[in-house]
Amino acid sequence: MKIVVLIKQVPDTYGERRLTPQGLVDRDASDAIIDEISERALEVALQQKDADKGTEVVVLSMGPDAVTASLRKALSMGADSAVHVLDDSLSGSDTGLTAATLAAAVRSIDGVDLIVAGDASTDGRGGVIPAMVAEHLGIPCLAAVDGLQIGSTVSGTQPTESGTRQVHAGLPAIVSITESAPEARFPNFKGIMTAKRKPLSVLSLSDLGVDSGFPGLARSVVVTATERPARAAGRKVIDEGSAVDELVEFLAAERLI
Ligand SMILES: Cc1cc2nc3c(=O)[nH]c(=O)nc-3n(C[C@H](O)[C@H](O)[C@H](O)COP(=O)(O)OP(=O)(O)OC[C@H]3O[C@@H](n4cnc5c(N)ncnc54)[C@H](O)[C@@H]3O)c2cc1C
Repeated sequence: MKIVVLIKQVPDTYGERRLTPQGLVDRDASDAIIDEISERALEVALQQKDADKGTEVVVLSMGPDAVTASLRKALSMGADSAVHVLDDSLSGSDTGLTAATLAAAVRSIDGVDLIVAGDASTDGRGGVIPAMVAEHLGIPCLAAVDGLQIGSTVSGTQPTESGTRQVHAGLPAIVSITESAPEARFPNFKGIMTAKRKPLSVLSLSDLGVDSGFPGLARSVVVTATERPARAAGRKVIDEGSAVDELVEFLAAERLI
């Protein structure tokens, strides 16, 4: 079985996260790390490889130069090979271009049975890429699945507003996992040493035959970005006998009651 894991590099949530005045992610504002949910997606694939040694795990990421470090980390954790889609014209990509590019990259990999992704990234938080990639590839998508079972089909549980439902799909398919998936393993020394020799291919948009230009993929772009205004000081209500009335008046004025 060949599993492709979609790995997104994101700004570390422990650092400051900012946009540039042009609306791009300010990559100098914090460290770049593999998104935790992507690491869990990789762990799901690696556990399948542990259980079935014939499983091959390919990690795929689209992003700037710095993504190489995240892909090397994924290789040191146990992935077999990596694909990096790197192209200046991807800067400022919207979800449409991101999904079309990732789908083209998956198509460039022979014999993919399963694609595993996170359900939503911690920076963009769109939660749409797996379904959009599925649409491009014309394959089923099991979104936000807990307790993933991988065999000749894939199955799992999806939470709904009123309970849970069991879902399954034939292969090839794409699944997105949730934070209930197991935490990722740490790379060990042997993994770190062998990662350097594992294949990492870098593909451009022309290698993939993707046209990033408008209106090819009807791209939306950020035109301006405005920083959120600083929070105004809160109002303190001191109880001198009329606090309840003041609170009710305040909540009504704010349309909270
Ligand atoms: C109009 C518009 C303009 C934008 N401009 C910018 C910009 O200037 N700069 C910028 O950094 N972002 C920009 N974005 C955000 C960017 O489009 C998203 O970060 C990207 O499409 C991924 O979406 P997401 O993070 O919401 O993914 P989600 O759907 O939340 O991610 C789910 C899963 O998909 C996979 N995945 C997502 N992205 C990747 C990836 N790149 N490589 C591999 N796997 C991936 C991961 O497994 C992830 O866990 C813009 C978005 C819009 C709508």
